[in-house]
Amino acid sequence: MPENQRQAGSEQVLPPGLYLVATPIGNLEDITLRALRVLRSVERIACEDTRQTQKLLNYYGIATATLSLHEHNEAGRTSELIADLLGGARIAVVSDAGIPGISDPGIFLTRAAITAEIPVSVIPGANAALTALVASGLNTERFFFLGFLPPKTTARRSDLEKVKAGINQPTTLIFYEAPHRIVETLGDIERVWGADCKVVIARELTKIHEEFLRGTVAEVREALSQRDRIRGEMVLLVEAVPQIGEDARNDIGVQQRIQQLRDTQGLDEMEALKRIARERGVSKSEVYRQLQRERAPK
Ligand code: SAM
Repeated sequence: MPENQRQAGSEQVLPPGLYLVATPIGNLEDITLRALRVLRSVERIACEDTRQTQKLLNYYGIATATLSLHEHNEAGRTSELIADLLGGARIAVVSDAGIPGISDPGIFLTRAAITAEIPVSVIPGANAALTALVASGLNTERFFFLGFLPPKTTARRSDLEKVKAGINQPTTLIFYEAPHRIVETLGDIERVWGADCKVVIARELTKIHEEFLRGTVAEVREALSQRDRIRGEMVLLVEAVPQIGEDARNDIGVQQRIQQLRDTQGLDEMEALKRIARERGVSKSEVYRQLQRERAPK
């Protein structure tokens, strides 16, 4: 019977092959029974950082041998591991946290195993992007995971502009970001998407100091700037809505623009009136008067 159809807790011997195993993103209890069984049963565990994985293995009393597999040795290590796998070995791959291959090493070896027709199984589990998304309160119907943005400002802004140009439906953007760059990145989001764009920062997920910061990008940036020190791992989520050109925005009636803002950004009428006033550079009462004229029976 294939490994994936076996009963939970099966005592059967683990078949040869490559096992991509998800590990916790903070809380050591966030690991599946199957992941623990696989880590115990394989001959070797290829780890992004053996010291990091050893803490997890010690916690669960797992004595399996480890070896390193990181971005600097993945190419070389792959030929060695593929030779073992072809000889019938069972090898697990783990990263420091979450699912290997997601902004982490593992994909190079996985592709080589597929090419060599070695069975590849994945043992699912914790992932920072999806954990943050479901608790963010933002749109989960349509989301776009972009990993880390480039560290250099020009490249980062250019990436954000390209993403914005491609958004034609409300979409949640998910980024990984380092604490020392988050304020700068929020500044770029504000520049590209506007100060009212909604964002969520999910910090230290599953850990003691787990925290969610929700608000407009301007509010969240301000809140973080007030802190003496910004620490911890974080996921940045952005509510991206299709942008309509300035001309098109100003050409349509106030009623129609309110409906657009309601549909795409969930704004109520008052919020939409404020937004339209800002967009058109006029006062809110002027926009309101225009709305009354549009609504007046002809
Ligand atoms: N493979 C991992 C996964 O499946 O989520 C991601 C690895 S990536 C190198 C590490 C980044 O993920 C961190 O810089 C941070 O952006 C995010 N991350 C990982 N653990 C997190 C946590 N507990 N809370 C918030 N973000 C986390």
